[in-house]
Amino acid sequence: MIDVNTIAERDRSTVLHPFTQLKDFATGKIGDPTIVAGGKGIRIEDAQGRSYIDGFAGLYCVNIGYGRTEVAEAIARQAYKLAYYHTYAAHTTEELATLSDRLVRMAPGKASKVFYGLSGSDANETQAKLVWYYNNLRGQPKKKKIISRERGYHGCSVISGSMTGMSFYHDYMGLPFPGILHTGTPHHYWGAEPGETQESFSRRRAAELEELIVREGPETIGAFIAEPVLGTGGITPPPAGYWSEIQTVLRRYDVLLIADEVICGFGRTGADFGSTLYGMEPDLVTVAKGLTSGYFPLSGAIVGERVYAVMEEAADRVGAFSHGYTYSGHPIAAAAANAVLDIVEKERLIGRARTVGSYFHLRLRERFAQLEIVGEVRGVGLLGAIEFVADRQTKRRFDPELKVGARISKAARDRGLIIRAMPHGDILGFAPPLVVTETEIDEIVDMAYRATKQVMDELA
Ligand code: PLP
Repeated sequence: MIDVNTIAERDRSTVLHPFTQLKDFATGKIGDPTIVAGGKGIRIEDAQGRSYIDGFAGLYCVNIGYGRTEVAEAIARQAYKLAYYHTYAAHTTEELATLSDRLVRMAPGKASKVFYGLSGSDANETQAKLVWYYNNLRGQPKKKKIISRERGYHGCSVISGSMTGMSFYHDYMGLPFPGILHTGTPHHYWGAEPGETQESFSRRRAAELEELIVREGPETIGAFIAEPVLGTGGITPPPAGYWSEIQTVLRRYDVLLIADEVICGFGRTGADFGSTLYGMEPDLVTVAKGLTSGYFPLSGAIVGERVYAVMEEAADRVGAFSHGYTYSGHPIAAAAANAVLDIVEKERLIGRARTVGSYFHLRLRERFAQLEIVGEVRGVGLLGAIEFVADRQTKRRFDPELKVGARISKAARDRGLIIRAMPHGDILGFAPPLVVTETEIDEIVDMAYRATKQVMDELA
């Protein structure tokens, strides 16, 4: 094996890392890259042999935990048998047909077909094209605008990056793309008026959505895209009544609902999908991450009956469905997904996320809710967040220069726990693998607590 200094040097001089301050990395100010060398269960290990609890499951994706040989074997079996074939012009593989049958049966809404990509971003790009295609085919070519929410996260490609509702993903990138609009975030803690209940806040957000649709002209609005639980924008479950109010508005103006289940799908919230948990009836569903637990790149744009029926009906007139990637429906990815979903079923990981998740929130609230720098502790299933503020009464934020969230995350990391400083405000995010045990939850919460106390002492 190459020595670690050579790896670090090669990496520093050749890899363009996502979400990394380029100058600080190039000059060594933020140290060497972490060379991740192995993983088992909820832990990863670096090349120097240091072990970390991964309290964020990679990027909320390694739901079945690291080192599952069943998946490695399924991948190897498929690679030996047939490493690649495409799905253009009605080609398929056994693994892909099996996976698609499974997904259509388990997906929320009235699912009909699955279109495969490689990432959540490209799947949302596909969803936008499906909305445009559907409305062109049914003679409503103006009905193309897509509404997402401030603080929503849908990816980083041109359209998905535009759907993402945080300006720092747009700045200097020439985004958002015209025709992608944003409405208010479903964040009760920050968005509600003093004394406003969750229910009335939800009604207000739905009324704002309706105003936007009416202002733009309902004949121009094609779809609304949202995560059932706001993820990267702050790990925020919806306020009570939100989804029922929003769906009433969408139905009134014939606007499609795209549920971005990239994080929530396959058990993260303690339900099979976030849509199931909140009574959403999406027309289009985006899945990725948990679908393969990160063992292989794969995403899906699941197309509901309402949209698919129009596509099939128009086919004689418009010809082939002209959208696809070389790697759409890759057989190794399909084999990995089937092996992962087998584990999710066999080990009842969805129910586990619900019960261990309840324990997690109990422990999180016990340890953190009373701390003087904690504004809110929230989450659902195995998704959790702590929001830090300088003043709990007035909800005054910390000076961003203090980098409170990032410092607590760093202090936790120094103790061997990876939890994520979320990009918007001082928020610590938790999303451990769904195989986490209650004892490991105790360890995670305890390490996070000690890291927080350390930074509180530094701030005092
Ligand atoms: N949608 C949601 C809800 C996500 O959280 C993410 C990634 O975190 C994406 C889409 C984009 O997925 P990817 O990073 O695979 O492109």
